[in-house]
Amino acid sequence: MTKRESHSLETRVAQACHYIDRATGGINPPLQLSTTYARDAAYELLGDYSYSRAGNPSWAVLESVCAELDGGVEAQCFASGMAAVCAVFETVESGRHLVAPRVMYHGAQDWLRRISAKRSIGLTLFEAGDPEALERAVQPGETAIVWIETPVNPTWDLIDIAAAAEIAHRAGAALVVDATVSTPVTTRALEHGADLVFHSATKYLNGHSDVIGGILVSAADDERWQEIKWLRTYMGGVLGPVEAWLMLRGMRTLFLRFEKASASALEIARHFEQHPKLERVLYPGLESHPGHDIARRQMSHGFGGMLSLLVKGGADAAREVAAHTELFLRATSLGGVESLIEHRAAVEGPHSAVPGNLLRLSIGIENCRELIDDLERSLDRL
Ligand code: PLP
Repeated sequence: MTKRESHSLETRVAQACHYIDRATGGINPPLQLSTTYARDAAYELLGDYSYSRAGNPSWAVLESVCAELDGGVEAQCFASGMAAVCAVFETVESGRHLVAPRVMYHGAQDWLRRISAKRSIGLTLFEAGDPEALERAVQPGETAIVWIETPVNPTWDLIDIAAAAEIAHRAGAALVVDATVSTPVTTRALEHGADLVFHSATKYLNGHSDVIGGILVSAADDERWQEIKWLRTYMGGVLGPVEAWLMLRGMRTLFLRFEKASASALEIARHFEQHPKLERVLYPGLESHPGHDIARRQMSHGFGGMLSLLVKGGADAAREVAAHTELFLRATSLGGVESLIEHRAAVEGPHSAVPGNLLRLSIGIENCRELIDDLERSLDRL
């Protein structure tokens, strides 16, 4: 693979870093399904690989494009976002301490609560919208990882990554950023001082709601990074070759998809901001959003495709709106080409801290006017 550093990231990603298969001239990588790799008579491996759980050629191009995208030394792909999350937290020893936002992706928080209870690991949750809350949450010398998500799901509050990195590093902790929602199209977390970037690649990176996967990208090839590699091999949460191939194909259009989704989300947010049936529209691109100033600094290429509507009349009214959309699909997840609507509290379950009247929208790449009309019609029924 040739890297053309002088070209823009969008050009490099579209061409999978100018990938050409040396053996055939193919401009897509071959699909290697083999789980094991042959040796010669002296028992030397014929190539670079031994057994596909430990490493295989299907990951190579995907991982190098992901490392380019985030500007890290290396990337690792996983069987799901959660497999990557679990590998990161598996590096934390008993007795240490973790910090994470109070509102964040609920599955990752559930995992933190579990390891906190099972392995005597302290856990402090902080308010993402409060810049001083993180400073109060860290315990110098004790905190191993500060985990942040920005914008946070589903209020889309912003966390200043550079400020978080400074606080984490002063306390002797690593900063890990869940960049699933912002993507490196608009925020390259490592450039703001993060040590590790995480993506549920199931979302924007793949972009077509047909592959589950996770990506980690590291700023340094350090001890933690090597341990995560070891953990991937022995916990076994590895991405299948077909999924890796599909993910790379999806990623080639990441910039196009993200830009279109961001432009439509901004238009939709502005259109509905003063709607009489809504209490509020939460979107970082709106000047009324509390995280707007950080978003303007940190999100250089669009505010993303995620927004939430707070519907007047509580949970029943919100569910009524979701029940009557015809274009928006009622489903969880985000970052696909099709627009989704979800009553977030119902998806998260009885312990959800999300307001009952909140509808989360993932904006896809459809005609924006038609999406607006769909929501208008549904809100008019209330
Ligand atoms: N982080 C965020 C922000 C997510 O939205 C999700 C999934 O919804 C995850 C992590 C977990 O990723 P996966 O579903 O790929 O395991």
